[in-house]
Amino acid sequence: MSELKQKDSTYVAGTYRRFPVEIVSGKGSVVYDETGKRYIDMGSGIGVTSFGIADDAWVAAVTEQLGRVQHMSNLYYTEPCARLAEMLCEKTGMAKVFFCNSGAEANECAIKVARKYAATKDPARTTIVTLVNSFHGRTLTTLAATGQEHYHELFQPLTPGFRHVEAGNMEQLAEAISAPDTAALLVECVQGEGGVIALAPTYVKEAQRLCRENDVLFMVDEVQTGNGRTGQLYAYMNFGVKPDVVSTAKGLGGGLPLGAALLSEKVGNVLTFGDHGSTFGGNPVACAGACSVISRMDDAFLAAVREKSAYCFAELSEAEGVESVSGMGLMVGIKTTAPAADVVRECMARGVLCLTAKDKVRLLPALNIPADILAEAIGIIKTVCAELAAAQKESET
Ligand SMILES: *Cc1c(COP(=O)(O)O)cnc(C)c1O
Repeated sequence: MSELKQKDSTYVAGTYRRFPVEIVSGKGSVVYDETGKRYIDMGSGIGVTSFGIADDAWVAAVTEQLGRVQHMSNLYYTEPCARLAEMLCEKTGMAKVFFCNSGAEANECAIKVARKYAATKDPARTTIVTLVNSFHGRTLTTLAATGQEHYHELFQPLTPGFRHVEAGNMEQLAEAISAPDTAALLVECVQGEGGVIALAPTYVKEAQRLCRENDVLFMVDEVQTGNGRTGQLYAYMNFGVKPDVVSTAKGLGGGLPLGAALLSEKVGNVLTFGDHGSTFGGNPVACAGACSVISRMDDAFLAAVREKSAYCFAELSEAEGVESVSGMGLMVGIKTTAPAADVVRECMARGVLCLTAKDKVRLLPALNIPADILAEAIGIIKTVCAELAAAQKESET
């Protein structure tokens, strides 16, 4: 480990603060480090490995395609790309899909669609409205969309044309949407990096209504919330709305880089030849993996996600050392009495890998996590929350 740590910190750009653990193998929701220690994976690579590590059906789909054609340029047809696009459109009612490789790129596509759609109507309409505390990616444009100043500071100037409004503030929203320069609204229905905070349904509905009234595109960032994570295929389906554009990535590929912008009928033909592209976008191996993921997300599967979600919320919200539980589906934020980072570190020591989001502990387990393994992990998390809260209380008295 210390040799790997040394090599990594010498040669890999220092943008990540890694835990001193090397993950070498795994199956489903269980992974092992270099010493053979077992961990329950409650982060799934930040919501990426939808069916866990080395899921049999996913591995079979990917390796079958890998041995056939691993990549062709978008100058030619490959079957998995078309099959996945059809599947996504049939399950969402959207009209067209643009494939890329990441969440930021999916949002870049959404923003380009909005800019072009609006420009053809009125060249003054260039502004994209997003929410304070949102997260939309790390490229210079998606950073500009991200409503958190601390990501911006050292990277000026960012792409112009973004305005941030407070989530839940209807007045600010109405003013921003009706402004003559506004092209689109982009929101996460459940803010992920911002602290696992679901928007109020009335707010989301009103946002859609205001957008329609002003011919402003209603776009949702489902990079984290999408692909079954919230107990529906896409989180917007929990809110009774129908977006013009849906961006997604993370869990879509089940572990390979894949992003997508789903385009409704209204904007399906906005981008035409030469307007946009991506060398790797729609890669056949990534798409074959995604077909395996999305094809298994039927009603029964999503109901099971909701059931496991209800279990997590019920267990955690009554627990010692837990102040509140937020989120939706298997996207769970825990406000703990002890600092979230301490809880995560102690859970790791006891064999459970968790994430943080702002001041919360965040859980994004594989969607097919077996009930007994989930119960084991939640039990350990509860114990750690209670013990650290008790220790904190003791040190204060
Ligand atoms: C992770 C995330 C992104 C960025 O995705 P990348 O694949 O890291 O570019 C964008 N939006 C949301 C909501 C995310 O959670």
